[in-house]
Amino acid sequence: MNPSDNRNKNDFKLQTAKGLRDLIGDDYYLLQGLVEKASEVAIYYGFRPIATPILEDERLFRQGVGQYTDIVEKELYTLRTRGGDRLALRPEATAPIMRAYFEHGLQAEPQPVMFYTAGPFFRHDSPQRGRFREFHQFDLEVIGTSKSIADALVIRLVLIILKEAGLNQLAVEINSIGDRDCRPIFRRELANYYRKQARQICADCRERLKTNPLRLLDCKNPKCQEVKTEAPSAISFLCHACKQHFKEVLEYLEAMEISYAINNNLVRGLDYYTRTVFEISEPSDAAGGPALALAGGGRYDYLARALGAKKAAPAVGVAIGLERVIQSPKFTRLTPRLLKKPKVFFIQLSLEAKMHSLQVIEILRRARVPLSHSLSKDSLSAQLAIAEKMKIPYTIILGQKEVIDGTVIVRDMNTRSQATVKLNKLAEYLEKC
Ligand code: AMP
Repeated sequence: MNPSDNRNKNDFKLQTAKGLRDLIGDDYYLLQGLVEKASEVAIYYGFRPIATPILEDERLFRQGVGQYTDIVEKELYTLRTRGGDRLALRPEATAPIMRAYFEHGLQAEPQPVMFYTAGPFFRHDSPQRGRFREFHQFDLEVIGTSKSIADALVIRLVLIILKEAGLNQLAVEINSIGDRDCRPIFRRELANYYRKQARQICADCRERLKTNPLRLLDCKNPKCQEVKTEAPSAISFLCHACKQHFKEVLEYLEAMEISYAINNNLVRGLDYYTRTVFEISEPSDAAGGPALALAGGGRYDYLARALGAKKAAPAVGVAIGLERVIQSPKFTRLTPRLLKKPKVFFIQLSLEAKMHSLQVIEILRRARVPLSHSLSKDSLSAQLAIAEKMKIPYTIILGQKEVIDGTVIVRDMNTRSQATVKLNKLAEYLEKC
């Protein structure tokens, strides 16, 4: 412990820090199965994988995501390294992927460049329903095109992935918040409107009015809801190009028979969005609580320049919140490819047998026979009892005699018939079983 750390040693408990949790066994497989399926869908649609570091220079998020956003202003986990650098645990994937796009000169490749990634993200928010300090996302990013088909593509892919996970009743909410030509006009109108209502809004909103008026529409405080319903809507201020883009996105969705609702209040918390923003949720959760967004995304045509890139890189992306998908009552587990149901229970008897156990297990691994065992147990009955409880169809028994003979006994747990099999014929024998 750091000598300057004056917290009481006795306060230390063997538990995860607040808002964080372990993933053990099945919880891990639930996540892994979902990530595998989502990756498979992405690969079929031409996306390629990327993994960026968990830690990034803090400025990547300050410049990219924006100073006046909750995830940077209030929720960023930052640390100073021993070398004096200021790093942050990534709160989102888009800015890191855009950084990687320029760092590796990917703008020289045929455009767009399409990436998928999955992993943990960190936001120092107060833990609550569907909100953790460490959570997992699956992200899709299409960088290097301003075409509306890309916006429709990422929305479609999210719906396919969620459907594969059993979530088939989904609501798509969409909006357009314009570009640098038309957004300032909307922002001014919005601020004018809210300024007139300053007494009716919460303290946070009064602050947002000064720093980031668009975020006024994001406010969840009940006090501000009424003011919000009368607020000017972004789509009435769209310039011709933005209007055309939005119209095309909606036409693509209609052509794909994706129903959607335009939500005038949807602006999303992050600064870098331009034009299309969207969220996907289930109509309402099992407990009847308000629907939490399962996925959210949009277009971010100015992020590259905000990060200091010499050239613009129009792009669109989406992030799916994996914990929220898994917690949906509709979620149907997707078994990871790696996870194999054990077909064999391996039993060893005697010290010699224990010593040869790993050799037998290796023969079975090479023959791709998934197995289970309990190497700490000694007696036949204890090990058979576990095999029976696990309903494993075959046991392989290795005793002192078998070690000497280079054999094992294969027992059919249903018929209770047994056969002695030479080790070098074991894989072949099991194949026939
Ligand atoms: P965002 O990057 O904020 O657009 O989030 C994209 C998705 O990630 C959301 O729709 C949620 O499903 C999920 N998500 C965001 N923040 C959290 C969190 N703190 N805990 C769990 N899931 C989250």
